[in-house]
Amino acid sequence: MADFHTAIIGAGASGLFCAGSFNASKIILDHNAQPGAKINVSGGGKCNFSNLHISAKDFLCQQPHFCKNALASFHPQDFISLLEKAHIPYEERQDGQLFSQTSAKEIVRLLVQRARENNTRFSLNTQVLSVSKGTPDFFIIQTSSGNIRARNVVLACGGLSYPSLGASSLGIRIARQFGLAIIPQRPALCGLTAPKSLRPIFCTLAGNSLNAIIHIKKQTFTGDLLFTHEGISGPVVLQASVFCMPQQEITINFVPQIDVLQHFYKYKNSSLSLASSLKDFLSYKIIKSLLGELERDLANASKQELQTAASRLQNFTFVPCSTAGYTKAEVTAGGIDTKEINPHTFACKKVPGLYAVGELLDVTGRLGGFNLHWAWASGYAAGQALAKIV
Ligand SMILES: Cc1cc2nc3c(=O)[nH]c(=O)nc-3n(C[C@H](O)[C@H](O)[C@H](O)COP(=O)(O)OP(=O)(O)OC[C@H]3O[C@@H](n4cnc5c(N)ncnc54)[C@H](O)[C@@H]3O)c2cc1C
Repeated sequence: MADFHTAIIGAGASGLFCAGSFNASKIILDHNAQPGAKINVSGGGKCNFSNLHISAKDFLCQQPHFCKNALASFHPQDFISLLEKAHIPYEERQDGQLFSQTSAKEIVRLLVQRARENNTRFSLNTQVLSVSKGTPDFFIIQTSSGNIRARNVVLACGGLSYPSLGASSLGIRIARQFGLAIIPQRPALCGLTAPKSLRPIFCTLAGNSLNAIIHIKKQTFTGDLLFTHEGISGPVVLQASVFCMPQQEITINFVPQIDVLQHFYKYKNSSLSLASSLKDFLSYKIIKSLLGELERDLANASKQELQTAASRLQNFTFVPCSTAGYTKAEVTAGGIDTKEINPHTFACKKVPGLYAVGELLDVTGRLGGFNLHWAWASGYAAGQALAKIV
């Protein structure tokens, strides 16, 4: 049986980064044929690898302070330095988002090389069948390529999103087996599906987009919203989806530029209809579809009708019946409860030698490079801790 200081399960963003962050005999296991499948497709192939304005506030986690140590120990500049040393050009886009200027594949190549230089053996096309404690000092990892003994195991097997890129429930199954608490998982950074009663409106508007504000409880999100056949999508919806719990009511303001009721009163004596009075702010087709039966001439509309119409446009409230699901969600919210994890070392508090990093944890970033940065930062923190026990 092969013996290692550490076995890392998952050759994705967090596993690769962890492997390259300390020098010890280690093996990285993945059932995919190639490492870094999600990195390769991230950012539309250009990898939105980090964000200059990152802070713990960009993440949803039941323990809001949990991310702080890892983020304080690994900055966007640290990843930039790696790219600069490897002559991989990058650029800053809107809102501090950092992208590679070449292919994301260059970043994967760099991470694999960095891992190899730090004494990492790759075992790809390898199914991990089980992980158990052989003796108090060793784990036994049963795989489709044989059994492995390792003093430490890092769970870096990600969330449930994009099964086509290798996602599986392995990490959660192992965590449960070791008695770790799990925060229920759900798809995030994805579109939201409207209830059946509203589908006809969204269907008519599918393909149209506008600037909107979405309110969820006390949170506000602003940006482009895209209508789809099932409901809504686009950047503002993806951001909101991270914070949209099941059965959560959301409110949309489709005309954030003005106070619509005041606007209606201003044109009350004109010959315009409700929809045509708003043509300067939103396409006539969109307003007419949203207003539906409420559309009428301003001059004939009662005070109550004007209020109802303004509310339809600026306080459009509904409970999404689901999300676009794991096949389309960029990330998985929920995961291993961070109460179980030491925020400095990423070691599981109740299982000596077991570590968990990346998206498998109950830490979900907003859209904009935050999730990959979390994978690097958590992988780095675990790597630094493991370096101390070599
Ligand atoms: C289409 C898409 C685009 C994205 N774009 C961006 C972006 O631009 N910026 C950003 O910040 N984030 C982006 N993300 C999110 C980001 O890619 C993830 O948050 C990040 O990769 C998580 O890293 P991880 O190491 O935790 O998991 P992953 O990178 O998913 O790695 C997990 C690894 O574990 C392996 N694994 C799983 N189950 C098993 C098993 N049973 N046996 C063996 N191996 C297993 C998988 O094959 C995979 O290689 C994107 C996600 C998607 C799906």
